[in-house]
Amino acid sequence: MLKKQFLKLDSPIQYIKGIGPKRALYFKRLNIENVKDLLFLVPNRYLDYSTVLKIKDLKINDEATVIGRVHLIEIKRARRRGEMVNVLLRDETGSIVLRWFNRPDLKTKFKIGNLMIVSGKVTFFYGKQFINPLYEIIGEEESKEEKMGGTIIPIYPLTEGLSIWDIRRAVNIAIDLCLDEIVEIVPEYLIKKNNLPSIKKAIRDLHFPQSLDDSTKARQRLVYDEFFFFELALARRKMMIKEQEGIALQRIGVLTERFLRMLHFDLTEGQRRIIDEITRDMAKSRPMNRLLQGDVGSGKTVVALYTLLVAVENGYQGAMMAPTEILAEQHYLNHHEILTNLDVKSVLLTSSIKGAAREEITNQIKSGEAKIVFGTHALIEEEVDFKNLGLAIIDEQHRFGVMQRAALVNKSINPHFLVLSATPIPRTLALTLYGDLDISTLTEKPAGRGQIITKVVMENEKAGVYRLINDELERGRQAFVVCPIIEKSEKLELKSAIEAYNEICKIFSDFSVGLIHGRLSTQERIKVMSDFRNGSIKILVATTVIEVGVDIPNATIMLILHPERFGLAQLHQLRGRIGRGAERSYCFLLLSKFVVQDTYERISFFAKNNDGFALAKKDMQLRGPGEILGKRQHGLPDIRIGDLESDQELLFRARDDAFAIVKDDPDMKLPEHHPIKKYLDKFRRKEELLRIG
Ligand code: ADP
Ligand code: MG
Repeated sequence: MLKKQFLKLDSPIQYIKGIGPKRALYFKRLNIENVKDLLFLVPNRYLDYSTVLKIKDLKINDEATVIGRVHLIEIKRARRRGEMVNVLLRDETGSIVLRWFNRPDLKTKFKIGNLMIVSGKVTFFYGKQFINPLYEIIGEEESKEEKMGGTIIPIYPLTEGLSIWDIRRAVNIAIDLCLDEIVEIVPEYLIKKNNLPSIKKAIRDLHFPQSLDDSTKARQRLVYDEFFFFELALARRKMMIKEQEGIALQRIGVLTERFLRMLHFDLTEGQRRIIDEITRDMAKSRPMNRLLQGDVGSGKTVVALYTLLVAVENGYQGAMMAPTEILAEQHYLNHHEILTNLDVKSVLLTSSIKGAAREEITNQIKSGEAKIVFGTHALIEEEVDFKNLGLAIIDEQHRFGVMQRAALVNKSINPHFLVLSATPIPRTLALTLYGDLDISTLTEKPAGRGQIITKVVMENEKAGVYRLINDELERGRQAFVVCPIIEKSEKLELKSAIEAYNEICKIFSDFSVGLIHGRLSTQERIKVMSDFRNGSIKILVATTVIEVGVDIPNATIMLILHPERFGLAQLHQLRGRIGRGAERSYCFLLLSKFVVQDTYERISFFAKNNDGFALAKKDMQLRGPGEILGKRQHGLPDIRIGDLESDQELLFRARDDAFAIVKDDPDMKLPEHHPIKKYLDKFRRKEELLRIG
């Protein structure tokens, strides 16, 4: 028997009675390492047990929920509707058939003996059936159905080897022995003001609620806390930045005026306005920390280059870091000529540049001979030393973690800092998520851009698409063919790219086809990209290495294979590679007929929308904030439970509360803020590293 004193919040999960080392591994798959993680495990949803019916009591046309075990599994060809997965579900009173059409993913999902909760509408076809019901597998073969405390049962995210009842048993013990250890950090007055339960009540109600309302409140409390600590970190960062001494870059016009005259276009209103905002910021003696967000193709790069030149005309260096080598190379190649004409030395530094060449470049950076440095993560390596970095820019910020940004900024004493984002989000939300940064938003695109027509096409319409592509190619245009992302396997990704390449070569034998992917060497890649740029390659088959930033105005066609494997924001980035010239462009999304309805709807939504804001919003709804925040969360408290869309009101409240505390009591001197101070001390070391970013 375990005695109370042996179980603490930070005890490894396996010390809970009934969980040995083997079960502990299953818990690890849910990211549960210790008792505290378990207590904060948020159920997916709740089931009101009192509404569960016995199978024999089901009536045709009822919307109902039942619990039973899988008795038979059968995969059949349905006459007109493709393939069908049939499951016979039994409880002690009877059985019912569950049927799913066109769900190849379900073919191996169920096992005989699985305990399942199923909800749907009861219909009749040679017996009672549920068609495409909602379901949850709640237990494995040997698990017994148990009830514990109340009729509201939390449905936890499950992994193989763990049943809901295993989790419930463990949580029960954890609450018994460790709930008292949890301390309240959020001040009482805020809990009251926001009408939330205490943290202890919230944890208990999360797992053993008396009512659905209690469980909702419990979740809200956890979400509030998450947002509150996130915003607290932002508020403190903003305060620290304010206290720093920066470099006032006040001289303006020597290079920048000449630069503008050399462009073959005029800046848009928006670009002018933002350049104004930025240069005013950089003229101040406190470091700028600004986010420039604007839709794909809105022309952020020119703005970035202008500001880099401001640093140079004030006698400082500027650096621009990009997430991929292709993008860094493009920044360098696109601007090298114009910069040389301005007599400004620019260099490129990526990890593929090695040996003597690398040494020469790092020396030029150190001596200050190199005025503008383009590069990738290679820029933040220790050996890279700047003479006097005045401005650091990060392109496509969502691809970088806070740590990497801090590392770049730390290359100098408080340089100005600008991040560029092509995943724009509504201003109120941006202010909240990037509360430590000032925000500029580029809303319009340069005039004279051709329209982009986006179409969802099915596999059997491929021939027609190929004909259309062929016509465009004959008119002198160029095309991208984008291969699917294959999660976690670069090798398979490469394989699918090579397959696509072979097919495209065969079909478009009159045109030169190129292939680009992450495994190519820098030389090979630069060669392929410049061949595509100068038109000697007409069709470029590519993995997602071309996702961000690539700018080739003559490319007007994009065919995306397996678009369902991409997030919407990512698809939008991809599509942003075309429609950059005056010509009309076409983006085709090729779907197999076996995709499920949800996927079809998501991809169709994308096809109908060409607005980055709308797509980012939808993506947040569908895939959570990760897609938008990217790696930003690293080094900040996590947002894992909260939903930026549906919990927005809580987010705004938490933001106001956190910023108010930092403003009114920055050193957390008031007794009601002492727990916060203690909590923050844990973050202190990290924050010092992250004094900016
Ligand atoms: P993004 O904001 O996605 O980084 P880019 O900076 O790559 O977009 O710009 C996209 C294209 O638009 C580039 O080819 C760029 O030269 C062009 N461009 C930028 N500003 C203007 C403008 N004011 N007028 C016309 N074309 C412009
Ligand atoms: Mg860009």
